[in-house]
Order: sequence, then C-alpha cells, then structure tokens
Amino acid sequence: MPTFVYMTNCDGCGYCVDICPSDIMHIDPTYRRAYNAEPNMCWECYSCVKACPQQAIDCRGYADFAPLGHSVRVLREDQKGTVSWRIKFRDGREKNFVSPIRTTPWGSIKGPSDYMPPAAAALNSQELAHEPEALKVEVLPTLARSRFKKGLVS
Ligand code: SF4
Ligand code: SF4
Repeated sequence: MPTFVYMTNCDGCGYCVDICPSDIMHIDPTYRRAYNAEPNMCWECYSCVKACPQQAIDCRGYADFAPLGHSVRVLREDQKGTVSWRIKFRDGREKNFVSPIRTTPWGSIKGPSDYMPPAAAALNSQELAHEPEALKVEVLPTLARSRFKKGLVS
C-alpha cells in the first residue's frame, strides 16, 4: 500500500524525506508540504508513516487488504512508542492493529560510513558488512540440524 500525504496536516518538517529509502517523498516547492512523488516505486516500508510527527501520512489500501470504500488511518503515539492502524470497512466494521516504533533516539543509529571499511577477505563471508557486531550479538543465530523435526534427512 503506497503512502499519501494529507497536505493540510503536513507542516513540511521533512522527516519523511530524510527517512524514505526509495527517495520518493518530496517537499513541494510551492506549497512546502510533502508528497509521495512515485507511489508505484514505494517500498511500503512505512518508515515515513512512523516518522511523521503530524500523522499526516496514510496508506492506500489494496483490494486484497481492504476492499473499495475502506479507509486506513494511522496514529503515531510517541509516549506509548506505538503506531496504531485502523482499517474501516465500508460496512462500518473496523480492524485495529498496534505495532511498536523504535525507541532509540532519532539519529542514534550509526550509518555505514561510521564504521571502518570491511577487509577484502570479508567478500568470502556470508555475513553482511559489520555483522555480527552491528547487530549487537556475538554470533548470528543459525539453524542447527537438531532443531529440524525428527524424520528429516540427517
Ligand atoms: Fe518511502 Fe517507505 Fe514511505 Fe514508501 S512507505 S514513501 S518507501 S518511506
Ligand atoms: Fe509532512 Fe509528516 Fe513528512 Fe513532516 S514527516 S514533511 S509533517 S508528511
């Protein structure tokens, strides 16, 4: 579900522009409000929805998620650390979901350029750059054979 902006709620702070991994949230130079410039390129990651302090960003619902006539409203509550989603169907039924938002301070997560460049030998590793230390674990979890159901080929 690509996102869209209620321009009357947006104050043009630009958080959604900064956080969008697809670089499609733009500030309109005339109205100084954000808009999704290419909804078909939206990753549907909802980072912008969670980052918006004005609850100005909502989602277009796909027919398989919420049939025509529905609405999808999003409410970010910083104090609770949650984002609430309300799906309202055209027959009046509602579905509500609550999901957590990040609790670390804004800007406190290091970017790739804040780490030392990986050694060339790391190209032969299956780990991604700066794993596992960037994930704050000593080793990555692996699926041990003993965790498979009995009867599978050993
Ligand atoms: Fe960008 Fe993700 Fe928002 Fe889509 S949902 S506009 S990709 S931040
Ligand atoms: Fe507007 Fe919200 Fe984007 Fe800020 S984060 S520019 S208020 S849509």
